[in-house]
Amino acid sequence: MQNAERVQIQREHEALEKQRASLLWKEREMIDMEAQEWVAAMELQRELTIQAAMRSDRRRNTSTKCVDISLGSCSDVPYSQTIFPNLLDQKSREVIEYSPEYILMGVLHNLLQGECNPDLRLLGCSVVAPKCEGGKVIKPCRHRCEALKKNCFPAFDAIDMAWPYFLDCDRFFGSDIEGCFDPLAKLRGETDFPEDVLTELSTSIQFIHHSYSQMVRELKKTASRCGHIAQLYSIGRSFEGKDLLVIEFSTSPGSHELFKPEFKYIGNMHGNEVVGKELLIYLAQYLCSEYLLGNPRIQRLINNTRIHLFPSMNPDGYELAAEEGAGYNGWINGRQTAQNLDLNRNFPDLTAEAYRLAKIRGARTDHLPIPESYWWGKVAPETKAVMKWLKSIPFVLSASLHGGDLVVSYPYDYSRHPLEEKMFSPTPDEKVMPNCTVT
Ligand SMILES: [Zn+2]
Repeated sequence: MQNAERVQIQREHEALEKQRASLLWKEREMIDMEAQEWVAAMELQRELTIQAAMRSDRRRNTSTKCVDISLGSCSDVPYSQTIFPNLLDQKSREVIEYSPEYILMGVLHNLLQGECNPDLRLLGCSVVAPKCEGGKVIKPCRHRCEALKKNCFPAFDAIDMAWPYFLDCDRFFGSDIEGCFDPLAKLRGETDFPEDVLTELSTSIQFIHHSYSQMVRELKKTASRCGHIAQLYSIGRSFEGKDLLVIEFSTSPGSHELFKPEFKYIGNMHGNEVVGKELLIYLAQYLCSEYLLGNPRIQRLINNTRIHLFPSMNPDGYELAAEEGAGYNGWINGRQTAQNLDLNRNFPDLTAEAYRLAKIRGARTDHLPIPESYWWGKVAPETKAVMKWLKSIPFVLSASLHGGDLVVSYPYDYSRHPLEEKMFSPTPDEKVMPNCTVT
């Protein structure tokens, strides 16, 4: 390449570099300007919001018009007149009726399965249609809001829902000194129960069949109501991916304490045998309520034992059986898992193993190893989860609840002789077992 040509290229390159630098500089300036404009816009918006709030405050303070309440969901509030704008700054009945707050008030009853009803609706009414007297808005009482929030917390927690923002006790409610009113006065007037008894009644036990999601909700609610003595945990997942949930009662939820016996109940191992499952949900609610009420027997039980309740070991099978209903003639449908495995025949046969070892002089029959051949077969995820659970907690007493007949079966369930089914084959714990079965 010629020298002159090289110099020319060099110059062109430098010119391009300068141009690039200048463009970069301009771009930066523009970004800065945009940022400044954005900050200015934000400040303007903030200013406008403040002004709007001040205008609305002035209007509220100067308004002298109380009007009759005409909201369908609030026709039974303990006062007859309200004022616009309401505490959410909604200016007319139409605006309120189409607002997400008012719509949510209408569905809360179903969402929370009737819990906290009608208290929660009346509390909502006290915000969307506050009491008006002498042309002035009267705020609902904060202490009433706080008490209800505390009582309703488990119901909200059970459906993973936060307390609605428009029921914020600090923002929309007032103190006694400000002259607040009790939005739930009418409810309390209708019953003579003190408040704490009302709370107990609102968590009364329902004898119904619980679907998987309803069961989860009930267990969550119970664990949250008795948070200091209970916890909910999962030991794994079913074949279809449902959490295998256990509720535990103990004075130290989540940890084993030295010399404290560990106890467990398993229900619904056969998906279509549902009584055990319902009984365990009921038992969890009962243990929680009675502990809170100070029942000495229940308190003694929970203070001295760690109790684990596993209501549904086969939730996939349960759903199938429940779908078909009791009238359907496929009476064993749902007994097996979604993988078509019978969980009651899916654990290793350690009885046969114990018999085998008992014939060998000096061999131990406790802490039996699982025979290698067991793993050649199909092992259900539900079975594996329980086996892992048994290894992690030193249970000393357990039972699995079935349905269909009155039978108590305890180790060793198999006859010692393969050809003599009815042969008496006691376990080393024979004396203890019949006692356990009658309690
Ligand atoms: Zn069964």
